[in-house]
Amino acid sequence: MACPARPTVKTGTLHAGNMESIVLFGPPGAGKGTQAQRIMESTGLPQISTGDMLRASVAAGTQTGIEAKKFMDAGQLVPDEVIIALIRERLLEDDASNGVMFDGFPRTIPQAEALSRITKVSHVIAIEVPDERIVERICGRYTCGDCSAVYHDTFNPTAVEGVCDVCGSSNFKRRADDNEDTVLSRLGAYHQQTSPLADWYDNQGIFHRINGDRAIDEITEDILSALD
Ligand code: ADP
Ligand code: ADP
Ligand code: ZN
Repeated sequence: MACPARPTVKTGTLHAGNMESIVLFGPPGAGKGTQAQRIMESTGLPQISTGDMLRASVAAGTQTGIEAKKFMDAGQLVPDEVIIALIRERLLEDDASNGVMFDGFPRTIPQAEALSRITKVSHVIAIEVPDERIVERICGRYTCGDCSAVYHDTFNPTAVEGVCDVCGSSNFKRRADDNEDTVLSRLGAYHQQTSPLADWYDNQGIFHRINGDRAIDEITEDILSALD
């Protein structure tokens, strides 16, 4: 007797199941994106920035983008369920099969709990920068619109003014939320909702504190030794 017809089920491998991942943790402007781009070269792990993914969704006008934009403009965290859905989808992609480097995720305990059900985190690298440095870091930030290299007006300018060191482009961008008012809200959200994660990960023995108020190269060296 023939089997009854069964509906086709779309399956995907959640690659993250077999891998170990790294989390870059810290307040807005700590240097997570800057360090992620450098560490990527050494570890080969792709950077997953929930901030970049959300900005892409906003630019594309997707439902997620429309929902997220109001929180981002106000300097508040986007709801956990939106972020967790984005991450689950991203980890289905092939480049996630050997582990990834999360930048700006998780930012709440529920996000960290959800992540722990998906994948093993081997190292949490906390880049520590005092609050009084954050506003100047954020207000001077700009990025290359073509290759996403991160620069700063004073602390990390391009070698030749107006030309990206990495790709030679002259197409630079500043983020709409990189203004003083929004930064203060983002910093408030960090202290209230994100910093409790430090103890949560410290209790698991995988939390590494790095002084982020130093030269970019020194910080990279310390991160690479912590990952050894
Ligand atoms: P920064 O580089 O300044 O730390 P991000 O680019 O990581 O900022 O995030 C920008 C905004 O996107 C945040 O202010 C928040 O609204 C939202 N966002 C990014 N990641 C998360 C997350 N993991 N959970 C909730 N909201 C997030
Ligand atoms: P995050 O991803 O944590 O929000 P970024 O990597 O985007 O932080 O860095 C924020 C700003 O600070 C950028 O303009 C960057 O060039 C600058 N920056 C990063 N690291 C340092 C550092 N160690 N010293 C001074 N400025 C830095
Ligand atoms: Zn560039």
